[in-house]
Amino acid sequence: MFYLLESIYLTTRVRTYIMDVDPRLYSRGGIITERDPEKCIIRLRIAAGMTTPEQLIGIGKIARTYGDGRVHLTVRQTIEIPGVDPKRIVPMLTALKDIGTPLGSERQEIVNVTACMGTDHCKYANIDSLALAKEIDTKFFGKEMPVKVRIAISACPNGCASERLNEIGITGVREPYRDHDACTGCGTCEKYCREKAIIIKRGIVDLDKARCMECGICVLPCPFEVLKASEPRYRITIGGRRGRHPKIGRELITVSSPEKVMEIVGKIIRWIYELASSDQMLPEQLDEIGFDEFKRTIREEYAEKRVWPPENEVESDLL
Ligand code: SF4
Ligand code: SF4
Ligand code: SF4
Repeated sequence: MFYLLESIYLTTRVRTYIMDVDPRLYSRGGIITERDPEKCIIRLRIAAGMTTPEQLIGIGKIARTYGDGRVHLTVRQTIEIPGVDPKRIVPMLTALKDIGTPLGSERQEIVNVTACMGTDHCKYANIDSLALAKEIDTKFFGKEMPVKVRIAISACPNGCASERLNEIGITGVREPYRDHDACTGCGTCEKYCREKAIIIKRGIVDLDKARCMECGICVLPCPFEVLKASEPRYRITIGGRRGRHPKIGRELITVSSPEKVMEIVGKIIRWIYELASSDQMLPEQLDEIGFDEFKRTIREEYAEKRVWPPENEVESDLL
């Protein structure tokens, strides 16, 4: 199995050349042999897909100098430069590092961390997904693992980063609640809820929690600020994947701070590192490596007291 992967990613000529110039590069997954075995593709590391115009200009020049002049945007928010002669990899990688877009990864490791635009730019965002993605990238990118681990973050349940289709997914959520009894029953919030989770009962707003995705959108249009939302929270899922047999990740826990997310992501990575087998993808072995027990210990350790609504504010029966 391992040999098959090797032959797909680095055929003999590319491997021989890389081993000659720098054996450490050989273990990196950002160098991918092309259909034409005389050439390779260089995949970059671009956390959260966020780059600068200067870096894009630099990448363009490097693609012209070392590749076939084209660049490819990947599904996971990074850039690939195809048509590279392996003999020229070393100066090319130096040039890429100099502009802040170094060699990426695609092997059994923590690969490019992806994220939506989050609170920097999106009106629906509940969390700063870009900052969190960069922090996760800085701490964990490239760590060797028994299985490939993709991490993605969406700042609201709209899921633009498809986070639940990744081995580790993080979603920004806000739980709505009714602040006081001033609801006029105007129904504006009801129209905004795509999940049909809001109903007006006896002229007053009510919420079906089983349907609510905790996007927090209903809070925005209420003309009387009757609906409020909890502080932003981070829902963490494990075991999603795209590819041949797509799977939605299973919910692990929801916590209230990026610091806790960083700790928990570290624990998930250690858990996978210690227990997962390289024979199959992570989603296929979640039960074997004891997902339920892991979830129980994480929930015990990070259980949070519900801190909303504030004590002097009234909740309805369902909100
Ligand atoms: S997931 Fe939500 S916050 Fe992120 S870009 Fe999409 S709509 Fe905006
Ligand atoms: S937070 Fe819940 S009730 Fe409000 S719009 Fe989103 S899904 Fe609907
Ligand atoms: S919560 Fe606000 S928007 Fe919704 S029905 Fe009441 S007053 Fe209208």
